[in-house]
Amino acid sequence: MKAEIIAVGSELLTPDRMDTNSLFLTEELNKLGIEVVRKTIVGDHRELLAEAFRDALNRVPLIIASGGLGPTEDDLTRETLAELLGRKLILNDAILRYIEGRFRQLGREMPSVNVRQAMVPEGAEVLENPRGSAPGLWLEDKGRLIALLPGPPRELKPMYEEQVLPRLERRRSGVRMFHRELRVAGMGESAVEQRIRPIYTRYSDVKTTILAAPGEIQIHLRIWTEDIAYAQKTLDEIVQGFELALTDRIFSKDGSSMEEVIARLLTMNKATISAAESCTGGLLAQRLTSIAGSSSYFLGSVVCYSNELKSAWVNVPAELIQSKGAVSSEVAVALAEGIRRSVGSTLGVGITGIAGPGGGSDEKPVGTVHVALAHAGGVKERGVRFPGDREAIRWHASQLALDMVRLHFLYNGGDSPPRGVKRA
Ligand code: AMP
Ligand code: MG
Repeated sequence: MKAEIIAVGSELLTPDRMDTNSLFLTEELNKLGIEVVRKTIVGDHRELLAEAFRDALNRVPLIIASGGLGPTEDDLTRETLAELLGRKLILNDAILRYIEGRFRQLGREMPSVNVRQAMVPEGAEVLENPRGSAPGLWLEDKGRLIALLPGPPRELKPMYEEQVLPRLERRRSGVRMFHRELRVAGMGESAVEQRIRPIYTRYSDVKTTILAAPGEIQIHLRIWTEDIAYAQKTLDEIVQGFELALTDRIFSKDGSSMEEVIARLLTMNKATISAAESCTGGLLAQRLTSIAGSSSYFLGSVVCYSNELKSAWVNVPAELIQSKGAVSSEVAVALAEGIRRSVGSTLGVGITGIAGPGGGSDEKPVGTVHVALAHAGGVKERGVRFPGDREAIRWHASQLALDMVRLHFLYNGGDSPPRGVKRA
């Protein structure tokens, strides 16, 4: 089944408010195998609202609308839809008594405008709203289903779960949506697209979406079918194809974040980690500690921004900083080795770079970042030039550091020395 969502409210067309209800509703509908094919955001305007509903009714068998059920002049959803469907609005005594009761509880008299919320289009079912005054409405019209839900998310969500979901489930066909999410680090969107396009274009019934997020590319695969075995087999096949095309650039096949992947690797390998951060200013530590239980592997991070503190806290020789510059592979290595040695962690990370917008030179332009990872078998270092603004560069630097930790476990199996080096 296909559905459309209509988010009603002029505030949703300003920079101050965002339509989040449709995200929740889309996720929920997808679980039932219902595909959301269009979302409309429309202000509190009678003609535009009527047009939005009229068009949607001509296209799909299910419409879920949110907002515009309040008591005030600008809340028009109920009236507009009743008029469009040619249904009379009838005062519902039970709702009126309920709303009056709510006001009485608050020690107030019900304002007369609230009577509008008790008006129900002929033939509609009332969806009770114990968390607010505006009830929702469920209508069926010439085989099409329409749910009108209140705007506030804390009212809409439980109303959907308790009253809309059971109604949809009763009508549910066997078709479900199956979903996979892969995440890729260290590659741009177009490079990923170029490599996987020949694979996913062979599957016309699978919808592939490539999303660029900071420091990573997310690939979503969705298929709608009744046949679970077919869905699994098809998605497995595509994922295998992507693995061949993207190899070790894929860091997650279950939608886990980079932080979560690293947490699992460190825990599994009983390894600990520490960091000496310069240009990221603690961002790596922040990301590592965003995971519950991180104290079992994260020992700590020092933010040594000045040259003096790089020497005083992490024992980076002042001469080295002097001769190579604070942003250099040598200093990144010294930071990683210095922090690992002083803390005694399995892994030590050093990050130094130029986040900009000032401070760049011809030789070391803004975006130049060096990241080093010290481990029992030696140290790896990477020098990269990242695009973007200060925030993006800092994020990329932290992502590179986490990715290096991931690759270390992938290729070195944790504590073992790098390839080609004999274990002592
Ligand atoms: P309404 O039912 O139109 O009176 O909506 C009341 C409030 O719900 C609005 O002021 C918003 O704060 C919130 N709201 C309405 N629509 C949405 C939406 N699509 N997503 C998130 N919040 C919403
Ligand atoms: Mg509104």
